Amino acid sequence: MTTLQAPLRVVLSLGSNLGDRMANLQGAVDALFDAPGLEPVALSPVYETAPVGGPQQEAFLNAIVVADTVLGPYALLERTQSAEEAFGRVREERWGPRTLDIDIIAFGGHVQNDSALTLPHPRAHERAFVLTPWADVDPDAAIGERGAVRDLLAVVEGQELHRRDDLVLRLPD
Ligand code: ADP
Ligand code: MG
Repeated sequence: MTTLQAPLRVVLSLGSNLGDRMANLQGAVDALFDAPGLEPVALSPVYETAPVGGPQQEAFLNAIVVADTVLGPYALLERTQSAEEAFGRVREERWGPRTLDIDIIAFGGHVQNDSALTLPHPRAHERAFVLTPWADVDPDAAIGERGAVRDLLAVVEGQELHRRDDLVLRLPD
């Protein structure tokens, strides 16, 4: 396991549009924090969003998790991918329905672009389902050179999403 000395702040995006969507998201939160090296900071409200691109499919539930980690970027990617696998994610069709998708939106101030991991996430700035819950838990958030999340929100305001205050995720005790 790769470790860094000081913890870095990371932002993860969770999404599900297949099966019991809330159970998938809660299972993801539980699985992410079920091993050392990643400590929860904040968990956003749940938003329901129309799917962007791909075939016709059900609406997504989305949320943002903010955490501190001493894991390296690839160790965190392994953590998120094993959480996806634990929930039987279907990977047959790109952009298609999935029980669980976890993307690393930001990893401290890291900037990198290789075949396995791009940081910050290359499409985060154009997705209301990332920016809106992120601004809820961190109103001063920014995506590197793309700028402040609150400014980027103005660009995506046409995207359909609504906050589901009847659905609440919990951080593990
Ligand atoms: P998407 O999330 O774009 O719909 P996937 O979840 O199937 O697609 O991701 C495909 C690949 O994207 C993963 O195998 C992973 O290696 C790569 N990837 C690159 N950057 C990131 C990132 N910031 N967060 C998560 N996965 C990433
Ligand atoms: Mg993904």
